[in-house]
Amino acid sequence: MVLDITAAAALLDPLGREPAEACRGERLNALMALGPDASRALRRALSRLLCDATLARQAAQFLAPIAGVELLSPVNIGDYTDFYASIFHATNVGRLFRPDQPLMANYKWLPVAYHGRASSIVASGAPVRRPRGQIRPSGADAPGYAPSARLDYELELGAFIGSASVSGQAVPIDQAESHVFGVCLLNDWSARDIQAFEYQPLGPFLAKNFATTISPWVVTLEALAPFRAPAFERPPEDPPSLPHLSSARNTAAGGLGIELQAHLVSSEMRAQGLGPLRLSRSRFDQMYWTLAQMIAHHTSNGCPLRTGDLLGSGTVSGPERRQAGCLLEITAGGAEPVPTPNGGARTFLEDGDEVILTGRCSREGFVPIGLGECRGTIMPAV
Ligand code: MN
Repeated sequence: MVLDITAAAALLDPLGREPAEACRGERLNALMALGPDASRALRRALSRLLCDATLARQAAQFLAPIAGVELLSPVNIGDYTDFYASIFHATNVGRLFRPDQPLMANYKWLPVAYHGRASSIVASGAPVRRPRGQIRPSGADAPGYAPSARLDYELELGAFIGSASVSGQAVPIDQAESHVFGVCLLNDWSARDIQAFEYQPLGPFLAKNFATTISPWVVTLEALAPFRAPAFERPPEDPPSLPHLSSARNTAAGGLGIELQAHLVSSEMRAQGLGPLRLSRSRFDQMYWTLAQMIAHHTSNGCPLRTGDLLGSGTVSGPERRQAGCLLEITAGGAEPVPTPNGGARTFLEDGDEVILTGRCSREGFVPIGLGECRGTIMPAV
């Protein structure tokens, strides 16, 4: 069920004037800008509303079945930055593109990222059009302009910036999370053939900015408190992070114990009534860099983060093949196709394929939290 907060506002007591007014917006930006105290107050008020039998009966008129609503992007997104924070993903992908030097010299010193486009971010359920681009067949001298034949998904976590940071001021690592409103699921659709030709020397561009799908739910960091985890334990031979990217608190609890999964349903599987095929299963606490480190690094030159900015974590992969968060890794660059339940195989995504991302936190003694779904179906190229 979805609760219409605007309609139920009179029942949300005592929320306070500012958060109550912020909830009237069509998007969450006004609420996000108020910072963690406002979202905490709203969460308490909602919890009280739905736990109190009398109030919950009154609130029932403002609940709508989720199947009957159209899910939209919850935020007016400003800037979108996508990181590359899984060392397993970076190593696997690096090996395919540069066998002699999979990890670049900077990888263990700073969380690598690129600037994506907010204009092509869509909510779960929106169709994704196969992009065309410049593709150079192997052995050829010149590229052609053609539909991507190596279309991939990337299993990622997104983080929305709530209260803005100040231009010119680096956010100290232990204050970084106070700028995070919450997290969502994110699919960074990627055209590997376009990427292979265009990415040097400035990184990904048109291979990734044709579409990014997010789940329409934002789970606040407060709700994730029971699922905190230590930051990734680096091997002793790795360099320690520079002081502005490290703190005792970050080392002890900078991680988030979220299990992420990606499933595939092809049009044939759908027609035959077959269930989804699991492609990926990984954990966010295996990321080499934490959310706090990403924010501390992003602002370390004085670059301000604004309310509604979206940070992608980068593909969340683990050390084993079945924990890989994209087809490029799972199929070793297309060399080892994945069998599908109807006797077919996949190297990269085909038209009609639907990719479904899910996320879940669980811990004994606590109520598990799901992150909803992030779905997208591939449409043929124009
Ligand atoms: Mn990505």
